[in-house]
Amino acid sequence: MKIEDHKLVASNVKQMHCNKKSKLLPVVDTIVLHYTAGGNAMSAAQMLASADNSVSAHLVIARSGQILQLLPFNVKAWHAGYSSLEGRSNVNNFSVGIELDNAGHLHRRGTEWFTWFNKQIMPDEVFTTVLNGRASYWHAYPAIQIEVLAEVCRALRRNYPIRNIVGHSDITSRKLDPGPAFPWERFNALVTG
Ligand SMILES: [Zn+2]
Repeated sequence: MKIEDHKLVASNVKQMHCNKKSKLLPVVDTIVLHYTAGGNAMSAAQMLASADNSVSAHLVIARSGQILQLLPFNVKAWHAGYSSLEGRSNVNNFSVGIELDNAGHLHRRGTEWFTWFNKQIMPDEVFTTVLNGRASYWHAYPAIQIEVLAEVCRALRRNYPIRNIVGHSDITSRKLDPGPAFPWERFNALVTG
């Protein structure tokens, strides 16, 4: 996987049209990970690329490992919102935003699990943890999605002075993503290994 002219070059990358080219970033030293909380990668990418809202991201990574790129890495995207990291506010000004196709929090009804938009999730895609003494259910991340994400982060580290890879929940108290199901240990091993 290569980066040319601030765009990923690989067989599993599709470049999408997005007009939200706000301004050039003077530096890219941080990667922020999100979940889409949506139904699929293409619908998330189309929403993020659409002109009638003020959110965007550089990449959406599907559960299959397919990558959709909306903006070149040297252009500011609007994914972090009100945020700060190491004393610097507005993380959008120095970061790449990567959205992972993942529905986020799940609800249990009997022996079945559903997303917030009422799509059933099979048990092998349910991540269970305990929060505040109660069972809590989250959409699991497929291994291929994490492997592709790690490959992207390695490519970014070769091309930009990346200092931090953080979750959205690490830079603002308003957000939970990428959530308890995100396998930080395995991901970090893949990025550094
Ligand atoms: Zn987020």
